[in-house]
Amino acid sequence: MELEELIQELDKKLIVTKKEIIDGIMYIYCETKKQKTKCKYCGEESETVHSTYTRIISDLPIQNYKVKLVIKVKKYFCNNEKCKKTTFAEPLNFVDKNAIRTKRLDEYINKVGLTTSSIEAKKQINETHVDISNNTILRIIKKKQK
Ligand SMILES: [Zn+2]
Repeated sequence: MELEELIQELDKKLIVTKKEIIDGIMYIYCETKKQKTKCKYCGEESETVHSTYTRIISDLPIQNYKVKLVIKVKKYFCNNEKCKKTTFAEPLNFVDKNAIRTKRLDEYINKVGLTTSSIEAKKQINETHVDISNNTILRIIKKKQK
């Protein structure tokens, strides 16, 4: 499967701009195409980009490489004069706010954590997926059980 197809399973709007492998980690640079996006505060659409910022998010491995997504996130101007915000960040549905892992990676960690002991889970996950501590595994499992 093409790299872009794998990334688009997260969000169809993502495009891959660059890929590099450093110390066994695959960094995939991606961003969404500029498009009409709804302000999350008032719902009005805008396609005027204010600025961008970068989020680095761990994702499921590809060909045994640990994967980090380097996402260029767009901030759009809200043109609605009545809106209390002047800018808003585009929504990324595959990752929680302030999270450093994609939801699908957390789901995987949760699955491994529930089926094996936490020491074994840590070993398995660190070998193939992402460097993670016992505490993080337990936190993810607890979060999912809520
Ligand atoms: Zn708005």
